[in-house]
Amino acid sequence: MLKIGLTGGIGSGKSTISKMLKEKGFNIIDADVVAREVFNIYPEITLKIKQEFGESFFDENNALKRKEFGNFIFASQVRRKKYEEIILPFIQKEIFNRMSRLHEEGKELCILDAATLIENDLHKCMDVNILVWVDTFTQFERIRNRDKLSHSEILNRINSQMSLEEKSKVVNYSIDNSKSLDNTKKELDKVLEEIGRNFRGVKCLNNLGTN
Ligand code: ATP
Repeated sequence: MLKIGLTGGIGSGKSTISKMLKEKGFNIIDADVVAREVFNIYPEITLKIKQEFGESFFDENNALKRKEFGNFIFASQVRRKKYEEIILPFIQKEIFNRMSRLHEEGKELCILDAATLIENDLHKCMDVNILVWVDTFTQFERIRNRDKLSHSEILNRINSQMSLEEKSKVVNYSIDNSKSLDNTKKELDKVLEEIGRNFRGVKCLNNLGTN
């Protein structure tokens, strides 16, 4: 099974491109979805977070208050690191479980959409890596419109990640998502054609055409 990593920064357009790929029929594993679902799959995560950060970040249904907890975590490197030490092993375990299942089902391609693919070294487990690139101004504006966060909350989130320039050095392909969605679709098709040329055995890529 060909494994493709799809990454970028916060608000750079990974979900947008992931949706385009899903519409083409590809199997996508969304690390954000996995990061939410692991709380139900591995109840020990909730216990560990309560031990480390207290019970106040959970509501009466024992669900994490995501926005409040996100602001608390992103405001401090130390807290973020502690949180990641708790949750990352479970997320990675679940991602690889899901990949194995797709492989066993005979799927010939799987895409992992993960903001921190490179920071967590997961790109090294992929056959091909694609970066969704956007200029910083556009990134900031898109996050502001989507998430209604304050100026400093947005900057904290952008600055807590590796820069897109750094990421571009370790991927095989970059897609510029600073322009229109139509332009992005064309860029995506070009990248898929190129991957199809390099991996001729993957039939689902070679049958795509440019739609
Ligand atoms: P995150 O990692 O924070 O979840 P993301 O990388 O998945 O972000 P998206 O949610 O896909 O990013 O995009 C961020 C916002 O920008 C969304 O509101 C999306 O609709 C919008 N957007 C994405 N691409 C474009 C585009 N080419 N033109 C206009 N708006 C766009």
